[in-house]
Amino acid sequence: MTAEGAVASPVQELLDELHARVQTVTDGEVATYIPALGKADPALFGLALATQDGHVYSAGDAATPFTVQSVSKPFVYALALHDRGLNAVLERVGVEPTGEGFDAIRLEPDTGRPLNPMVNAGAIVTASLVTGDDYGQRFQRIIDGLSAFAGRELRLDHGVLASEERTGDHNRALGYLLRNAGALEGDVDEAVGVYFRQCSVVVTARDLAVMAVTLAAGGVNPVTGERVVGADTCEHVLAVMATSGTYDFAGEWLLRAGLPAKSGVSGGLMAALPSQLGIGVYSPPLDRRGTSVRAIAACQELSSRFGLHLMRPVNRTTPVLHRFLRGDALGSQRTRRHAEREILRREARAIAVCELQGDLGFAAADVAVRAVSDDLAGVRWLVLDLHRVPRTEPVAVELLDSFAAELRGLGVTTVVSTEPGRTPLAAAETAFGTLDEALEWCEDALIAAACAAAPDGRLDLDAAVPLSEQDLLRDLPADMLDVLTPLLAERSLEPGQALFEPGAALDETLYFVVSGSLALQRLDGDAPEPLRLASMGPGTAVTGLTVADDRGAYRVVAEEPTVCRVLPAAAVKALDDDHPQVVEALHWAMARSLAARLRRADAQNQALIGSVP
Ligand code: GLN
Repeated sequence: MTAEGAVASPVQELLDELHARVQTVTDGEVATYIPALGKADPALFGLALATQDGHVYSAGDAATPFTVQSVSKPFVYALALHDRGLNAVLERVGVEPTGEGFDAIRLEPDTGRPLNPMVNAGAIVTASLVTGDDYGQRFQRIIDGLSAFAGRELRLDHGVLASEERTGDHNRALGYLLRNAGALEGDVDEAVGVYFRQCSVVVTARDLAVMAVTLAAGGVNPVTGERVVGADTCEHVLAVMATSGTYDFAGEWLLRAGLPAKSGVSGGLMAALPSQLGIGVYSPPLDRRGTSVRAIAACQELSSRFGLHLMRPVNRTTPVLHRFLRGDALGSQRTRRHAEREILRREARAIAVCELQGDLGFAAADVAVRAVSDDLAGVRWLVLDLHRVPRTEPVAVELLDSFAAELRGLGVTTVVSTEPGRTPLAAAETAFGTLDEALEWCEDALIAAACAAAPDGRLDLDAAVPLSEQDLLRDLPADMLDVLTPLLAERSLEPGQALFEPGAALDETLYFVVSGSLALQRLDGDAPEPLRLASMGPGTAVTGLTVADDRGAYRVVAEEPTVCRVLPAAAVKALDDDHPQVVEALHWAMARSLAARLRRADAQNQALIGSVP
């Protein structure tokens, strides 16, 4: 059997199955106090779920239009917050739950403010805070805003609007009370008129799911990609939905469903789970507190079935510390002369490499910082590798940054390795595109520091490396060196100049690096930049063998002004006749050097395998 085309989604199946079960619930009454709403078919039931990446699942009557009613309130509140700022809006509308119904006639005794924006009184004032020179402009801003949340152009149901206007005396009375209390300015009829209109905007359950997920996603509609409001605004709106979105049912709702939500009298309900999803439901029969009976049943079941409760602890499955190694277990891919290797062998534990993984928020960054600081004895260079960290919260950057600053005070240098163009730490000494380059930089710094601390030592990093100290030749007796010396030519390379191009003809010519640095690069077909695999410093030797492979994808280039001494293949051949023992000694030296490198690579592999839990 093959999976041709799309395979049925398990989420879709679960949604269909849940829809079928909840459809059989027949409790509740359709609201009739707005006569046009009373005509709704009580059997209608639409369910939609929109994900953070913009996929919308739906079941039943998810495309059936109905008027949004009170479900508009959080979105208009979002627009007011966006237009005025939190404090200006708070001055006019409170955020305390009422414990009463949607039409409660209660204002805050001393200020006259309505208690929250989810009850009618609060929503009437909220609508008056949206930007606009008059109520016409304000309503235009509201319907445009609701449309942006839904990702399509929404329209008014003039029949429902007329019906609500005819029977809306309770809301008009609220308007007059608000103006009398100083909470509402201007013409009451106009203010209440905008509120009636916002309630008569037509949506579907699918629209509500998309509108909800836009709040859950921090204000960017994931279907259209449009930013509607800021992330802070969404945070504030969801908080008020959680405490007051279902009026005098808000406590039990949050307890059982655990989702910030908003209900409406036409039978609509939307719920949002931050960073995950939005749910839209439509089913007209309401319970005695004005919430759709099937919407409650569907959301509570979805929540427990999918584990959506907001207060549920989320456990991190991968530890934040991917690997924490010292420089003696993990070395860079630089080939170094014997004297440098000796320094690293003695002191490389002064380098620590900390590879972090997963998104870094407060908790993960805190754990990482504590784990690292517990194990820093003798460390003077710390590499923080962030290649496996897709996202860092500002607080994580702040924690790592002050950690690096504190380490600097203790004489520890922090370097970061991360994707180019992303340097999250100000206190880091420097940033590298690869972990290998960061490690190499630390090793260079360690070697330089060791040489500076013992200036009378044998190693002068700036001086050209003489033949007698070349790695391959240092064990050769003086008379053999004397045979070789006159055969050697000199070759200088500019930075960027290649010593071997891909597919270079293979011969036995030996290049001894006297000063400067060579890099081994791999050229991958579509990669814009060659990949730097390894580098070779003064005192080391290379041959064409380094780049010999079937694909011809490797090259060796100078990274700085570089000088090599060259022992041509022909000269080695000629030597074979007169001084075969010199050629043999050379071949043995090459074999030993290769064996030593294999051992080092093997030790490194073992350390890496052993370090992953
Ligand atoms: N338009 C309705 C009203 O003001 C909205 C109420 C609601 O959905 N709870 O009565």
